[in-house]
Amino acid sequence: MDTQILSASADGVARAAELLRAGELVAFPTETVYGLGADATNDAAVAAIFAAKDRPRFNPLIVHCPDLAAVERLVEMDDRARELAATFWPGALTLVLRRRPDSGLSLLVSAGLDTVAVRVPDNPFAQALLRACGRPLAAPSANRSSEISATNSVHVTASLGGRIAAVLDGGQCRVGIESTVVDVSGPAAVLLRPGGVPAEVIEAVIGPLAQPDPKDAASPRSPGMLSRHYAPSIPLRLDVTEREKGEALLGFGPAAPKRALNLSRKGDLQEAAANLFAMMRALDVPGIRGIAVMPIPEVGLGRAINDRLRRAATPAADDGDDDDWHEDRGPAAPCRPLDDGEASR
Ligand code: AMP
Ligand code: MG
Repeated sequence: MDTQILSASADGVARAAELLRAGELVAFPTETVYGLGADATNDAAVAAIFAAKDRPRFNPLIVHCPDLAAVERLVEMDDRARELAATFWPGALTLVLRRRPDSGLSLLVSAGLDTVAVRVPDNPFAQALLRACGRPLAAPSANRSSEISATNSVHVTASLGGRIAAVLDGGQCRVGIESTVVDVSGPAAVLLRPGGVPAEVIEAVIGPLAQPDPKDAASPRSPGMLSRHYAPSIPLRLDVTEREKGEALLGFGPAAPKRALNLSRKGDLQEAAANLFAMMRALDVPGIRGIAVMPIPEVGLGRAINDRLRRAATPAADDGDDDDWHEDRGPAAPCRPLDDGEASR
C-alpha cells in the first residue's frame, strides 16, 4: 500500500478523518510522539495496528479523545480523575480508568481488560483530527515494535511506510517523549509509566503515587498491574482440534465444526485478533468448564494471539511482568533533530 503524506491543512485533516472512519490506519502528530491511529470502536482497525507494528503481544493501547466530555462517554470518572483531567488535559497525562459498559470501544483496545487508558492531547492537529473524525482514536506510538518512538513524519514513514494508509504531517513533536500513565481505576493512584508530565507535578495535585511492584502480589500497589492481563476464569487447552466433555471449542479456520465459535472461518489472522477477546469472554460463562482452542499459526498476528492464549492458559505463571510491555518506552530522550542512523533503525 502507498502511504499518503497529508499536510496538516484543513483538507489533509479531513482526508485523514475520512480514512480513519473507513477503518484505515493513519499516523498523526501529538505533543508527545506520533500516534498510529485507528478508530478505537472498530475491532478490525485496532487489530490492524498490531499487524502494522509487528507487535508480538496485545498490550493495551491509549485511546485519544478531543475533550473531557468525550472521555466521560467511554470511562467511569471519579473526583480524583476529574481533578487530574482539569489540571493536565489537554496534555501528556494518560489515565487508566474503568470502561463504561456502553463505551462502544473495541475490547482489543484494552487487551480484554475492564480498564481503558485515555488521554486528551493538546497538539492542534491531533485536536482537529479527533474533532473531524468524531471517533475515539486508539494510538500507540507510530513505529514498528522494538523501534523507538517517532517524533516527526520522516521517522514515521521510515518505520511504517507502505504499511499504513497515511501520515498527517504536523512537524516535530513538542514534548518528544511518551505520556505519563497513571492508573486511577482503583483506590491507590499508581504510576504505570513515567513520561511527559513529571510524577512530582501529579503528586502535587493528588498526593503520593504508588509504584507498581509486579513481584509483590500482596502489595496494595499491585492490583492495577496484576489486572493488566485478561484471562478467562476457566481453563484453556491450546492446539487441540476437539473439545472434551463440558468444554467449548474455539475454532480457527474452515476445518472447525460449524457450530463452534470461530475466530476466523477463513483463517484470517487479523479477523481472529479482532475477535479474540470478545470470543474468550463469550465462552467464559456458567455451564462451560473449559475452552479448547484450535491451533493458530505462529506467524504475523498469530504470534500475538498465541502469546495471549498461552498467558490465559497458564495464569499462575503470569506475574504481570511483561517484558516488552514497555516496548515503546525507550530512553527518556528529549526531542532531537532527525539523524539518518535513527531514521533507518
Ligand atoms: P502506548 O499506547 O504504546 O504508548 O502504550 C500504552 C501504555 O499505556 C502501556 O505501556 C501501558 O502502560 C498503559 N496502558 C494502556 N492501557 C492500560 C490499561 N488498561 N491498564 C493498564 N495500563 C494500560
Ligand atoms: Mg511505541
